[in-house]
Amino acid sequence: MALSRLPLLRRVLHLPGQGRDQSRASCRWRAEAGREKRVMAPEHVSGPFAIVGRRYPLYPRLPGRDSCDHAVETTAPWSRDAERRFPVSHQLGYQSDGPYKPVKRAMLALTIPLETLQAVKGRMLQAMLKGLSHQTHEQANVRMLPTYIRSTPDGTEKGDFLVVELCQSHVRTLWVNLPDNGNQSIQEMYRTFNIPEDIMKGTGEALFDFIAVCVQQFLSGIGSAQSSFSLGFIFPFRCRQTRLDKAELISWAKEYSCSDVEGKDVVQLLQTAINKQELYHVNVIALMNDTVGTMMTCSLEGKPCEVALVVDKGTNCCFMAEARLVEMVEETSGQMCINTEWGCFGDDGILNDILTPYDENVDQESSNPGEKRFEKMVGGLYLGEIIRHVLISLAAEKELFIGSSVVVLRTKGAFKMQQIMEIIESEQGTAEAKKALEALGLHPSKQDCYRVQQVCRVVVSRAAALCATGLSAILSYMCQSRMLEQLAVSVAVDGELYHHCSRFKEILQNVTELLAPECRATLVPSVDGNGRGAAIVTAVSLRLMAQRQEVNQLLAPLRLSHADLERVQALMRQEMELGLGQETSATASVRMLPTYVRGTPNGTEQGEFLALDLGGTNFRVLVVHVSEDGIRIANQIYVIPAAIMQGTGEALFDHIIECIMDFQQKQGLMEQVLPLGFTFSFPCQQMGLDKAVLLNWTKGFSASGCVGQDVVQLLREAAQRKQHLGLEVVAVVNDTVGTMMSCGYDDPKCEIGLIVGTGTNACYMEEMCNVGTVEGDQGRMCINMEWGAFGDNGCLDDFFTHFDQLVDEKTINVGKQRFEKLISGMYLGEIVRQILLALVEKQLLFRGKPCPKLQTKDIFQTKFLSAIETEGLALKQLQTILQELELEASSEDSVVVQEVCQTVSLRAAQLCAAGLAAVVEKMRESRGLSHLAVTVGVDGTLYKMHPHFSQHLQETLRDLAPNCTVTFLLSEDGSGKGAALVAAVACRGAEP
Ligand code: ADP
Repeated sequence: MALSRLPLLRRVLHLPGQGRDQSRASCRWRAEAGREKRVMAPEHVSGPFAIVGRRYPLYPRLPGRDSCDHAVETTAPWSRDAERRFPVSHQLGYQSDGPYKPVKRAMLALTIPLETLQAVKGRMLQAMLKGLSHQTHEQANVRMLPTYIRSTPDGTEKGDFLVVELCQSHVRTLWVNLPDNGNQSIQEMYRTFNIPEDIMKGTGEALFDFIAVCVQQFLSGIGSAQSSFSLGFIFPFRCRQTRLDKAELISWAKEYSCSDVEGKDVVQLLQTAINKQELYHVNVIALMNDTVGTMMTCSLEGKPCEVALVVDKGTNCCFMAEARLVEMVEETSGQMCINTEWGCFGDDGILNDILTPYDENVDQESSNPGEKRFEKMVGGLYLGEIIRHVLISLAAEKELFIGSSVVVLRTKGAFKMQQIMEIIESEQGTAEAKKALEALGLHPSKQDCYRVQQVCRVVVSRAAALCATGLSAILSYMCQSRMLEQLAVSVAVDGELYHHCSRFKEILQNVTELLAPECRATLVPSVDGNGRGAAIVTAVSLRLMAQRQEVNQLLAPLRLSHADLERVQALMRQEMELGLGQETSATASVRMLPTYVRGTPNGTEQGEFLALDLGGTNFRVLVVHVSEDGIRIANQIYVIPAAIMQGTGEALFDHIIECIMDFQQKQGLMEQVLPLGFTFSFPCQQMGLDKAVLLNWTKGFSASGCVGQDVVQLLREAAQRKQHLGLEVVAVVNDTVGTMMSCGYDDPKCEIGLIVGTGTNACYMEEMCNVGTVEGDQGRMCINMEWGAFGDNGCLDDFFTHFDQLVDEKTINVGKQRFEKLISGMYLGEIVRQILLALVEKQLLFRGKPCPKLQTKDIFQTKFLSAIETEGLALKQLQTILQELELEASSEDSVVVQEVCQTVSLRAAQLCAAGLAAVVEKMRESRGLSHLAVTVGVDGTLYKMHPHFSQHLQETLRDLAPNCTVTFLLSEDGSGKGAALVAAVACRGAEP
């Protein structure tokens, strides 16, 4: 059908176009205040629109002229709405002189066009999103209940399990043995116990005692001598589940109404009752509903099933969702099985446009009018009833059973599911119809039988198509939330209607393909979904618990308590004092180097300054113009050829001067003598603001004749050799000081500099009276702490884990820079790599498969931590990152890898905070303040790029130094701007 007919169609079918618009809604991510989970709106969920109007190949055809074309093709004046508006009694008087005969009208009413199915799919998606959202979950019809089942079986599950299933009127107990060897078959034994009616309506205690006695009798019956049993509990009532083994009953249903159970944890009630029977070796591990069991059973055979569909008396569906999109649970990584409870879809009226008067009658006669509207169109319990009402209506219109009394049709449950399946399936369907009708005391004609068969077919076909619509919504949602272009998934299916009705099966498969063309669903029939599945859920959860315990054990040494951090803070403070003391500074691991920077910018600095930045990736020359209006910078990067880096000191400094001269010429600054600040990021012993003795080269430099020399002097000598007389070096600084100064220009409270990049370091303004290594007691001086070496004297040994040792052993400076090796970008990836290797070895990751690439040093870069810890990362994205390392991560692996990264980066941030806490507390005390407000200027890619580092650092600092209010300011070009500002402040101080 051409698209141009759509408006007409919509008018005819009274479709507001809502479904289409909904299904086409663009993907929008909504971050809600306080909750960082995201809700996803559907996009392309409905597949190509071209399928609209295609003839639905599987709908029944009426004989002869009445051949029932697809309803989309019709522009009939009759509309479903008309029927809805007239009560049944009016319809009984419907004259068949309209353009459609009643039979065809009934068939059309029950035939849902593909376009409408498409729209229904969109509405189902909206309903699912509502159920997943924290805000709307409580009001949602499709409840999307978290099951706390976080994994499908991986084939390693084994052992003996007990299952207790609370059924409609009995308790079923089951023993399941999952064999060690995948080739052996699962063994099962079960027994059912009828529940006396007085127990079903008595006290909760009596009910659970009864169940426990069943378990006890069952166990003694099978003669098991096993020392302990894990038990899975199938409890098919509405619960508020908060853990796999914790679920409060919301309300009883069916025949149950035991007192004192609603609002209580039914797992606990069962465990207490079991203990009362002295079955202390039976532990209730998991509670679940039946749909979940179906998914788990089918998962045992080959590829895991990630969706389960039950179409029996009722209908329901569950699937593995991305945990980050399930707002009701804390978990943000991995997956979680969601029990959709989709039977209630439509209870808010969203399906009214497809409801027929027959559906309304069935609903009115049901025990729960207005509820479970979707289930009442799909579930086997209701299909016979729908058929019965169609027949009543047609008989009243004299289209059926003319001359017979049809009073019998008024009896509920006149048509059984089994009969319906035989009528529609068998070649002898009309004969079956005749048999069934005659059994009811009717005298059907041949045409009656034929029409009844058609009615049965159309009702079952509609059920299958609606079921496919729901399934396609789930598949599209999974495909999209996993950020896949295509999804291949196995769907476990259980229920009489599916198992025994080939028409249903065929339509389910075909319509699902039409509505979710981006998904390939393999339908896997389930055998005894419930019992076996519950055993498997229990087995999987035991496997996960064991794994969790081992992972926790392995990561425990990396998790620092508040007391641990207070100790680090105290140790840092102690080392700081030692470093500042004249006699003790030699023994301190924190060197506390005086920088001779005596003040931070106060905003009055003005003028033009040159700056050099040597020691990062590039050598830069800058001119920095400082004025009342702010700072302007021009700079140029120069390459230092390897031959010069590793040649003579003279050649190196000559080259630097040549670069400066080139820059000055280009900037037209040759004629001016500008004060110069020099950021020289190599270890130096500073003797004055413009005097720094190089201790050793790093980062690939090895120019001869420089170590032990004052680098400013070397620069001045080179200037003389090059006859560049207009150079006035006023300050040499390291990058931490530059960072503090550059931020200090914007915020006068900035008296601390912090770097968390390749390495880590900090500096701060110390009272001169505390600096024993420099003469004078007046004012303050910036101290370059060189805190990366904190712990090199062994004071932090208690905090180094086995993984830190392994990382340290592979560095070029073993035993040195110990604090830095716990914190900075150069090492975090390596720590994670070592932990992952240990987890693989313990078979806790990647199924223990060897990962050769992961053996390579530095292959796991610190930037991966940032990527992996990014909020809302989809499994697919994490898998893509790990694929670079040739690692095949399952959903569970992804949870573990994320946890490892989080643990390592959190520890780094916390340790950094402990160091800073020591600094700010010392500053506060030295200044005699009860409260200190101070700003930290920060630089470094790890701090700037990691998604949580800064937040964790700040939170921990607040915790450790509650009397200090610390603000963090990101530094921009600390090395360039900062060096010029050091020069500017020095010039300011020199002015009269
Ligand atoms: P430097 O400290 O040498 O001046 P940077 O501040 O740029 O350099 O820091 C470089 C370090 O930052 C590297 O060790 C690298 O591991 C780390 N890094 C790079 N990208 C990221 C990122 N996205 N997240 C966290 N760390 C990163």
